[in-house]
Amino acid sequence: MPSVQHPRFSAFVANLQAIVDASATEPEILFKGSALLKDLIAHDDWLPEQFAVPNPDRYTQYLLHADPQDRFSVVSFVWGPGQKTPIHNHTVWGLVGMLRGAEYSQGYAQLADGTLTTDGPPVRLEQGTVEAVSPDIGDLHAVSNAFQDRVSISIHAYGANIGKVQRSIFLLDGTTKSFVSGYSNA
Ligand code: FE
Repeated sequence: MPSVQHPRFSAFVANLQAIVDASATEPEILFKGSALLKDLIAHDDWLPEQFAVPNPDRYTQYLLHADPQDRFSVVSFVWGPGQKTPIHNHTVWGLVGMLRGAEYSQGYAQLADGTLTTDGPPVRLEQGTVEAVSPDIGDLHAVSNAFQDRVSISIHAYGANIGKVQRSIFLLDGTTKSFVSGYSNA
C-alpha cells in the first residue's frame, strides 16, 4: 500500500475527507478542494522519491491515497520528457495540481454527430496552479508534459478510486475504447 508520511500530505487528505464526509456538492468539492490542493503543491518537499520516478516508456500514475470507501483518491502523475495521454474522460470530478514542471491540457467537446472538436486553446498548467475536470464542467481532454527535456509531476485528486474506474479513450472520429488505468504501485 502507498504511504506518504508528511504532515502536509496528511492534512490535505484529512481536509479533503472532511469535505467529502460533509456530502458537499460537486461545485463545493471543486472549490474547496482546489484551495486545498493549491496549498499542497505550493511546497515541493513532501512527495517521496519512489512516487516521482518516471517510466521511459509511458507516463506513470502512483496511488498516494485511496479512501477506504473509494469516495476519493490521490495520485501522482509523473511525465517523462514529451510524454502524453490520449484523449480520455474521467466520469467523476478531478483536480489536477502542478507540483513540478508544467503540462498542457487540451479540452475536447463532442459534437452531435459524435465526432470530437477542440474546446478552446490548450491550457498550460504551471507549477503551483490547479485545474478541474468533471462530466459537468468538461470531462474530455488530452494532457502532455510541456517539456521535451525534463520530468513534470502533477498531483491529482478524483471523486472515486480512479484506478478502478471504467473510462474511455476517444479518437477524433468519436470512436471510443474502454480502459481502466490502474496504478504503477498497486
Ligand atoms: Fe485526465
